[in-house]
Amino acid sequence: FSKLKEGLAKTRNNISKSFSNLFKANEIDDDFYDQLEETLVMADMGYETAEKVIADVKARVKELKLKDAAECKELIINSLRDQMNVDDSAYDFEEKKTVIFVIGVNGVGKTTSIGKLASQYRKRGKKVLIAAADTFRAAAIDQLKTWSERAEVDIIAQSEGSDPSAVVYDAVNAAKARNTDILLVDTAGRLHNKKNLMDELAKMRRIISKEYPEANVETLIVLDGTTGQNALEQARQFSTVSEIDGIIITKLDGTAKGGIAIAIQSELSVPVKYIGIGEKVDDLQKFDPGQFITALFA
Ligand code: GDP
Repeated sequence: FSKLKEGLAKTRNNISKSFSNLFKANEIDDDFYDQLEETLVMADMGYETAEKVIADVKARVKELKLKDAAECKELIINSLRDQMNVDDSAYDFEEKKTVIFVIGVNGVGKTTSIGKLASQYRKRGKKVLIAAADTFRAAAIDQLKTWSERAEVDIIAQSEGSDPSAVVYDAVNAAKARNTDILLVDTAGRLHNKKNLMDELAKMRRIISKEYPEANVETLIVLDGTTGQNALEQARQFSTVSEIDGIIITKLDGTAKGGIAIAIQSELSVPVKYIGIGEKVDDLQKFDPGQFITALFA
C-alpha cells in the first residue's frame, strides 16, 4: 500500500491541495459544488463521474441535513468508491489455464506490462509463456525477449513480418506440451488499421479455440494513464475491434491526473485489473478501487 501511495504521489498532491481549499469553505452552497466539480475534473475523473458524485453528495447532504462543508469529505470519498464497483471475480482467470491477449497502441507500456505480469505470475508459482505476436516491428520482438529474460520465462517468437497467427499456433502447442498455466500474447497496436487488426485478432482467437479449447481466453487492454481522456477514447475505439475483459492503466506514477483510473472504471463497463506505477518489475499492482481511493484521499 505504501508503494501505491508513493506511486500516486503526484495525483495525491494535486487532489490534496484543491481538497483543502474546498473544505476551507464553510457553507455547502453552489460555489462549493462548483469547486468540487472542478477538483474532480482537474484530477481527470471526467465530467460524467463528477456529475454522478455531485448528485450523490447533494442527495446525502439533504438527507443528513448537513451544513458544514468539512462534513462532506467522507461522503465524497464514499461516493467515488461507489462509482467504481467491480465484481470480485475480476482475477479468477489467474487460477485457470489461460491465454491472455494484450492489446493497446504502441508506446502505452504493453511490452513492459507483459514483462511485469510474466514475472509476477512466475513468482507465484505459475508456468508462464510469452508469445511475440506483434511481428510488425523487429524492435517489439527484441524488447519482449529482453523482458522474458528479466522475468525468467520462455518466449515463442519468429522473425519480423511473420504471420502473428503462426506465432500463436506455435505458442499454443508449446503451452500444451509444457503444461503452461498462463500464455501471454503480445499483439500489434495498429488501431489506425482497424479492419486488419480485427481480422488478425479474430484469426488468433480461432486458433486458440481450435487448438486449445480448454483454455480460458482473456483480453486485456493497456492504456497510458498520462494521456488522460485520450486513454478513455482509445478504450472505446478498441472495444469496436475486440472484446475486452480488463484494463491495465500504466504510468500512473507519471501524472497528477491519476483520477483517470476512476473515470475509466466508472464510465466503461470493464474492470481495471492492474495499474502501473513505475518502470520496474514489481511496479504493477492489482487494482483495488477502495485502496486506490484511500491512497489518493486519506
Ligand atoms: P509498448 O510500445 O506499448 O510496448 O510500450 P513499452 O512497454 O515499450 O513502454 C513504453 C515506455 O513506458 C517505456 O519507457 C517504459 O519503461 C515506460 N513505462 C511502462 N509502464 C510504465 C509505468 O507504469 N510507469 C512508468 N513511469 N513508465 C512506464
